[in-house]
Amino acid sequence: IKVTSDELVSEGELGHGNCGHVHKMRHKERGTLMAVKQMRKSGNKEDLKRILMDIDIVVKSHDCRYIVKCLGYFINEVDVWICMELMDTCLDKLIRKLKQGLPENIIGKVAVATVNALHYLKEKHGVIHRDVKPSNILLSRNGSIKLCDFGISGRLDNSKAKTRNAGCVAYLSPERIEPVDPDFPVYDVRADVWSLGITLIELATGKFPYPKCTSDFEVLSHIVKDDPPSAPRSFSINFAEQNDNISFRYSLRKDPSARPKYQALLNHQFLKYYEERAVDVGSWYHDQLQKMTEIENGS
Ligand code: ADP
Ligand code: MG
Repeated sequence: IKVTSDELVSEGELGHGNCGHVHKMRHKERGTLMAVKQMRKSGNKEDLKRILMDIDIVVKSHDCRYIVKCLGYFINEVDVWICMELMDTCLDKLIRKLKQGLPENIIGKVAVATVNALHYLKEKHGVIHRDVKPSNILLSRNGSIKLCDFGISGRLDNSKAKTRNAGCVAYLSPERIEPVDPDFPVYDVRADVWSLGITLIELATGKFPYPKCTSDFEVLSHIVKDDPPSAPRSFSINFAEQNDNISFRYSLRKDPSARPKYQALLNHQFLKYYEERAVDVGSWYHDQLQKMTEIENGS
């Protein structure tokens, strides 16, 4: 659909991140709701590059059901807007609201969606995401789970990405923090596999898996020194078993050359199980919303 910015009215801010704000907007005549990411062009060049990269990847990923859809965009002298399908929440907001982790069947579906999205980006467009974390995975009440925020994604050049443009430090893989093997590419897809592993464990426990740290430096040194975290024992062997020859925890092997890539993950029993299993994510989310409203109303 063709729209111009004065046909849209804001219904409030949904969030903001590295570059710009995301507003919920309604098309005045049609009533269509969407999420619009806005950025002032007067900002620095780096930010502009990010939003153009974001648009480029979202637009060309229209055929992937696990990537947020683009409805259109405007670029003028003052700002850049990207209009996306409206989702209901990001997983970061969700666990903070619930004040607890998510059940395994929901995490299984998140893993299926995210691995498929990342695999698609790599195979179809030669791109790695570089900023995989709960706030970049969105959920909608119809049950769909989608990856978003491609601003710092990078094109792969012989499977290696060169620029050193960090994502959120908390989700950085050990080899991105401290390259061990000078011959191992720092930005292999396996850096994103690590971020995904950390994300899934955070979703399982409801909190970031490394101890409370007062500085980025402290977080980074824990990632490099500590054993990788694991999911609570209450989860299935496929997901939580300490022995990483068995469980999905092999996505958190500190040595990147021993870590799986997407094809291996897709063939892992944890993903295969949830790929085939029907899980009503929409109803689950609806029930959570209901419970939260009841708590807020003190009933
Ligand atoms: P940034 O580059 O600013 O980090 P994001 O795309 O991650 O941009 O968006 C920031 C926040 O806005 C997200 O954490 C999420 O809560 C919200 N958001 C982003 N896109 C959508 C969307 N399509 N639908 C609903 N909320 C969204
Ligand atoms: Mg973001």
